[in-house]
Amino acid sequence: MTVMPEAGFSLLASDLHLSPAQPHVTHQFGEFLRRHAGGAHALYLLGDLFEYWLGDDTLDAPLAQQIIAWLAELSTRGTQVYLMHGNRDFLIGTEFARRCGARLLDDPCLINLHGTPTLLSHGDSLCTDDLPYQAFRRQVRHPVWQAQFLALPVAERIAQAETARRQSEAAQQEKSAAIMDVNLDAVRALLRAHGYPRLIHGHTHRPARHSFELDNHACERWVLPDWSDTRNGWLRCDAGGCSFEQLA
Ligand code: MN
Repeated sequence: MTVMPEAGFSLLASDLHLSPAQPHVTHQFGEFLRRHAGGAHALYLLGDLFEYWLGDDTLDAPLAQQIIAWLAELSTRGTQVYLMHGNRDFLIGTEFARRCGARLLDDPCLINLHGTPTLLSHGDSLCTDDLPYQAFRRQVRHPVWQAQFLALPVAERIAQAETARRQSEAAQQEKSAAIMDVNLDAVRALLRAHGYPRLIHGHTHRPARHSFELDNHACERWVLPDWSDTRNGWLRCDAGGCSFEQLA
């Protein structure tokens, strides 16, 4: 008896950090969608699609309109589009997702990815050694803080986001590389809590496939690459497994 392999493939990417200041990266993302995402069963964008997102009342901005047009076309052609919040675009709301024809995913999110249980996460929640960041994360993920921020005039939101980014960059220069990576105890606890699925996340900008054993389970942790003028890439997964790809 032959078992038919589950058809199709899905793509996963994160940390594009799209911004009007980096038009080349936006162009590369467009090339990726046109040349590689058509025909995919699903596209998962696992956070930090944008360098910052100030609220869905700003989606008339040219960059947002461009991304909406591209993702809406992809979803209209039959590819399911999923968005997860990152630490920079956690204010993406249901209106932006609706216009993209996309669905917002919780972080983490356990899915069946072409036959393999797979846990998706942006990854910042796993960086538990970075205590100041985790405190900041709890603050800005709180519904009351978000409601207050979104009620500010757009210019004030921009000013606050710029201040936060400068503070974050200054703080990062004082943090060791280890502190800004995921904490392996946090990874192990997450995998135990979800039945030892394959884990795919981004955020750390350290693309890799980690293969290890945990409680007698063979585990895999895939880390997605970030995008820049000199780097891009995504994960392509089908019933046979996952592999990294990038623009030629
Ligand atoms: Mn991130």
